[in-house]
Amino acid sequence: MRIFKFGGASVKNKESIGNVKNILIQQKFEKGFVVVSAMGKTTNALEEVVKAYQENQNYLAMLNEIEEQHINVVKELIPEINSVFQDIINHVAEVKTFLSLNKSPKYDFIYDQVIALGELLSTKIIAAYLNHSGVNCTWLDAREYIKTNSDYREGKVDYETTCERLQHLPKDKIYIIQGFIGSDDNNFTTTLGREGSDFTGAIISYCLDAESLTIWKDVPGVLNADPRHFAKTQILNKISFEEAIELAYYGATVIHPKTLQPLQHKKIPLLVKSFMHPENEGTKIDDFSEQIKPQIPCYIVKPQQIVLTISSKNFEFIDEKVISDVYKLLTDFKLKVNLIQISAINLYLCLEDKYTNLESAVELLSQKFHVQKEEFCELYTIRNADSKSEKIIPKYESAIIKQSGKQTLQLVIKKEA
Ligand code: ADP
Ligand code: ASP
Ligand code: MG
Repeated sequence: MRIFKFGGASVKNKESIGNVKNILIQQKFEKGFVVVSAMGKTTNALEEVVKAYQENQNYLAMLNEIEEQHINVVKELIPEINSVFQDIINHVAEVKTFLSLNKSPKYDFIYDQVIALGELLSTKIIAAYLNHSGVNCTWLDAREYIKTNSDYREGKVDYETTCERLQHLPKDKIYIIQGFIGSDDNNFTTTLGREGSDFTGAIISYCLDAESLTIWKDVPGVLNADPRHFAKTQILNKISFEEAIELAYYGATVIHPKTLQPLQHKKIPLLVKSFMHPENEGTKIDDFSEQIKPQIPCYIVKPQQIVLTISSKNFEFIDEKVISDVYKLLTDFKLKVNLIQISAINLYLCLEDKYTNLESAVELLSQKFHVQKEEFCELYTIRNADSKSEKIIPKYESAIIKQSGKQTLQLVIKKEA
């Protein structure tokens, strides 16, 4: 069985949904799972809904707009299928009802109950369109299959229950299922972290011992740099699981970092292919002994980084106890450290503040340490760096932190205001 995953860019409008159908036909996809993300930037729009709800703004108008956008796509694609219009209205109404009755103050919980709407709507539309075009498929609600704990916005997968449920499904059908979402023991919706649909593809592949997972992207495959940041890029034809997990971890966002672990565990190949040129080979990630082919430097940029310099107040060393106390605090505030450097009395941390907790953390840290904060930084990572590769990085001479390992060179650079 093969698993396909289509991300937001590949289902963003009528034409791209038509293209999904063509790919399924061209690839002779007659059974297996098609994992689908929310259309285009719908998830971002839903984040704005949650924000508006929290701030007592007019979130209903925003939800109505999202509803209208989806209805318009259906009108263009399959105007004769009335049940999809009703499905869209029902799913939106469910979110409205939830918000109007909600008593929970927990932001992350509310977030997940709202944000899943994007995937529910996109999959309803795509499933109806495929069935209408002669590609028979069955729509599944991922929340009945992908079971997680109750860490809202970062649900941890319960593989045992998830696999058991997935394995019960007949194997001879095409299933359309949402990426990114699942549910907890109380059947509340959970999500797996932003951009988590690739990961859903990997979870399903793992549970069903799939022969491969293909993620369809707006790029030819995994390139040696993000084309949005670097003018000249080259495709990587083959990558080992080990190297792919490093690249994803350092911030090559073309693959969600959690995707590789379940695949590597069962040695299931991951194919990254272009939805514009499905006939091209793209990139294959597999159990290769060779790290990467071709063997060239790879550049990765992580934006929105903050450098904290934590110094002891009375000239005490930065020892294990200090580091462990600081890390404990950072963990409590969900601040993710991407780079660490230590000197006698200074601890340098390059981190990201996904959940806007930095100020509270700095306030607490400042009770014990001198804390300096440098915002608006970028972390550049070069894998397989050679003597020239550093010079491609803008302002490389003025790096705030530079660290060089056997295979990895990292530079933290302050972004221009
Ligand atoms: P999806 O449609 O599945 O959400 P993403 O937008 O998450 O797809 O991933 C595709 C994007 O990843 C590309 O448009 C590209 O800008 C970015 N990207 C980052 N690093 C790389 C890389 N090394 N190779 C290819 N694309 C990359
Ligand atoms: N729709 C979700 C997001 O935008 C999940 C995904 O696209 O992978 O984060
Ligand atoms: Mg995405």
